[in-house]
Amino acid sequence: MHKRKGLLGILKSLSEVLTGEIVVPEDDKYEETRAIFNAGITKRPAGIVVCKNEQDVIEALRFAKEQQMEISVRGGGHHVAGYALNEGGIMIDLSQMTDVSVDEEKKVVNVQGGATLADIDHETQKYGLAMPTGTVSETGIAGLALSGGFGYLRGKLGLSCDQMIGATLITADGNVLKTSDHENADLFWALRGGGGSFGIVTEFEFQLHEIGPEVLAFDVMYDLKDGQQVFRELNKYLENAPDEVSVNLTIMDLPPEPMLPEFLHYKSVMVVAGMYSGSPDEGKSVVGPLRELAQPIIDNTDVIPYVDLQKKLDPMVPHGQRFLPTSLFFEDLSEEVFEAMMIEKEKAPGPLMFQLWENHGEVNQIDVSYNAFAVRNSKYLLLLDLMYTPEQEEAANQWIHNFYTTFKAQSINGAAYLNGIEADDQITESTYGENYQRLLKVKEKYDPENIFHNNPNIHINAAQDA
Ligand SMILES: Cc1cc2nc3c(=O)[nH]c(=O)nc-3n(C[C@H](O)[C@H](O)[C@H](O)COP(=O)(O)OP(=O)(O)OC[C@H]3O[C@@H](n4cnc5c(N)ncnc54)[C@H](O)[C@@H]3O)c2cc1C
Repeated sequence: MHKRKGLLGILKSLSEVLTGEIVVPEDDKYEETRAIFNAGITKRPAGIVVCKNEQDVIEALRFAKEQQMEISVRGGGHHVAGYALNEGGIMIDLSQMTDVSVDEEKKVVNVQGGATLADIDHETQKYGLAMPTGTVSETGIAGLALSGGFGYLRGKLGLSCDQMIGATLITADGNVLKTSDHENADLFWALRGGGGSFGIVTEFEFQLHEIGPEVLAFDVMYDLKDGQQVFRELNKYLENAPDEVSVNLTIMDLPPEPMLPEFLHYKSVMVVAGMYSGSPDEGKSVVGPLRELAQPIIDNTDVIPYVDLQKKLDPMVPHGQRFLPTSLFFEDLSEEVFEAMMIEKEKAPGPLMFQLWENHGEVNQIDVSYNAFAVRNSKYLLLLDLMYTPEQEEAANQWIHNFYTTFKAQSINGAAYLNGIEADDQITESTYGENYQRLLKVKEKYDPENIFHNNPNIHINAAQDA
């Protein structure tokens, strides 16, 4: 109690130098400010610094270091492993730093480190421009782009990190560094895929491209009993699919929600969804076969505003549930392995979002050494999110771990999408493959004490231990 009082006094001294504010557990708004996407993460920071500008970030970092407190950084708060939170330390929260400004002539967007994908699309689409992001608009750009960024434009334009052309960050020693291909290029290379291990990004710069404002969005629901056929026919289609098409396959058991027609309640389905990023008229014939992989239950394929497509999945992933994630990349996925996955899926102890995102085109044509993102040879990215109740926690942990280890052997060296998994040293190293040693050198130069470790961490000891 005494100690806590002392700490509150020290935290108050920080609030005097902030434009933003510090929120502590005693405050009414603590729970709301602490909340992140995954309600299963129970860590409670001693203080949350809600930053309004770059100087606030510098002050928060300086304070936490002086007090030798744990540090975590929050962008959109969507990482399912809950890296934004920490126990008893300082959470540096950028979620109110959301400015986005577009240079229409240069086709460049500047984005503050706490902006969401919705913030970006809202501004860029005013000019008929876009950059590759993700598929749920409430996700933060910072976490997404620092570790990749898979969305509907990956075939045509690659990942979010591939379109990053500059970033300003606060390094472990409290300096503000501008990075690009011409300034601090080693650090800029690491930021594009290497995650949050190197500092706190206050501003990103991305290249924009002409997309929309209307796009052809395909969205076809099949019965999972036809799953094998859909998967087989999809693979045939992908042999010649143009880069303008990227396909997301989602398998789930539909809940008995009133918003769904009754015949769909509890039904196991497979949704084939994505967009054609060229002209919508041209796209209709190109995506035609994806609408006939088997007999569809529902076909919602339509020409819709790009911003609507980017928000379409938001209601499917409500905040405040408990989630456990896992992920793997596959260079190829045979029908036998797919079938084995479907058998394992049936044993899941809670509702499961099972996604297979196919990769071809630009995402795989970029050289592995171009930036830190190293998995450039995957045909499929597997993303699993298992929902559970507190009573199911142990079974859920076991099931998700078992799924990862069972299918690791068929994957690309156990590599995972670090934005969709709680990574350990081995997974992180496998995922960065030949880029890992280069990342370690950058880490050693900019954060040798590993101040920034609440992330799929790149750190010197990991290399010594391995
Ligand atoms: C509902 C949902 C949908 C998703 N859809 C997609 C998708 O379509 N495509 C895709 O690729 N991924 C997707 N993801 C995964 C998503 O990319 C990651 O969760 C990502 O880390 C989210 O970033 P964030 O800023 O919201 O997260 P946070 O939890 O705030 O941060 C994630 C990590 O980044 C660090 N970080 C955050 N901000 C900064 C900063 N400014 N500077 C330095 N480090 C920072 C954090 O410390 C943490 O380690 C989805 C996740 C969810 C929950």
